[in-house]
Amino acid sequence: MVEWPALSVIASRVQSGQLKAVDLVAKSLQAITDKREYQAIISTVTDRAKQRASQIDEKVKNGLSVGPLAGVPFIAKDNFLTFGGETTAASNILRGFKAPYQASAVEKLEDAGAVCVAKANLDAFAHGSSTENSDWFVTKNPHDKTRVPGGSSGGSTAAVILDLAPFALGTDTGGSIRLPASFCGAVGLKPTYGLVSRSGVVAMASSTDVIGPLTRTVEDAALVLDVMSGFDQLDSTMIERDNNPYTNLDTKIEGKKIGVVKEYMAEGLEPGVRVQIESAIDKFKKAGAQVTEVSLPSLPLALATYYIVCPAEVSSNLARYDGQRYGHSSKNAKDLDESYELSREEGFGLEAKRRIMIGTHVLSSGYYDAYYKKAQTVRTKIINEFHQAFTGYDFLIGPTAPMVAFKIGERTDDPLKMYLTDIITVAANMAGIPAISIPAGKSQGLPVGLQLIAPQRADRALLGIAKAFEELA
Ligand code: GLN
Repeated sequence: MVEWPALSVIASRVQSGQLKAVDLVAKSLQAITDKREYQAIISTVTDRAKQRASQIDEKVKNGLSVGPLAGVPFIAKDNFLTFGGETTAASNILRGFKAPYQASAVEKLEDAGAVCVAKANLDAFAHGSSTENSDWFVTKNPHDKTRVPGGSSGGSTAAVILDLAPFALGTDTGGSIRLPASFCGAVGLKPTYGLVSRSGVVAMASSTDVIGPLTRTVEDAALVLDVMSGFDQLDSTMIERDNNPYTNLDTKIEGKKIGVVKEYMAEGLEPGVRVQIESAIDKFKKAGAQVTEVSLPSLPLALATYYIVCPAEVSSNLARYDGQRYGHSSKNAKDLDESYELSREEGFGLEAKRRIMIGTHVLSSGYYDAYYKKAQTVRTKIINEFHQAFTGYDFLIGPTAPMVAFKIGERTDDPLKMYLTDIITVAANMAGIPAISIPAGKSQGLPVGLQLIAPQRADRALLGIAKAFEELA
């Protein structure tokens, strides 16, 4: 049962005094306590959330306007810097870290009246596809506790499906919003690169990191994007947005040109997933879309490319955790060099270390040309193929993942097998284009995600077609 109304409805009820923000925060905190066995949450922001909620109620009482998300509780992935508690990115090296400033996206949400109540679990530093790389604990899939929720935004996504809050924030560097959305049956939006400020979000791979919402519905995702997006001088990679609200959605399907990506429907797709995706494609056809197959021949190289570019950027971004300025500092070091070494040895988990090793290797002078440079060349090829495809199509379509949620422990022994989970999602990150995962039926009793991809900056159109599909389903 869906326990929270649409975000816009909650906000208007708070604004009219029909609902109290303090009660909504209390309800969210209670749900977090009641459902802690799922281990979706790392910490709550109790005092600050209660305080902000009473300020909002006070404003309403005084006849002041609060904003489009008045009193709406939300949960942020724990790699968003927030006030009122710790920000750990689920990593031992940041245990106890208190952020000196907040992520710009969180600030924008707060300005609109939303209230952050808790921080969600993730794969440490967002490195992973299942939350099993968390240095804290593994989050359980709301549909089956023996399975993973997907990752790395697994805690945020499970939180939404468990009704701990009406929406949550995630980050998507190679699929970390869309993959858990697919595994848990949520809507997960990865906006165009640069549309939402990355300031105050723990950096993973800066050239592909994006911030996006996890919600129950496309309409809610649109509202959160509308509030979060827009210029921020603290992020130099931002693009301009227009003034048309992202909630202003065109849901017409008739005449839309949709390309079914051949490479995404290739072998390796679980049969149950294929059935649901083919049925979704049929629905689009019946509703009047022009659906044909399209091939982007370089897509099979996207995963290998990603796992060169991503660790290269990770190795550089993780260099700041040196045990001197913030985070874990080893008590066992005798001098400065040993302090660097031991702080990192003790504080980083296995996956962070693996990525630092791979990243420094592909960037090293002897291997730069063979790996990093080649990967960037292929990346350009992928970008060009998307450009080319979008000259003939409005949207591209396929599954979000080749499989449904797998069992906890099933892929942890083999990092390559874990990396393969992202085989379909990574290309949109390499190209910086928007993509969304929306629920499209079930296989083996578990949710299947449909992925829609649009050209750069066509986020509004993407949300429109996704909403249209939601209405057909
Ligand atoms: N699962 C991918 C990885 O491990 C993507 C992670 C992400 O998007 N943050 O790199």
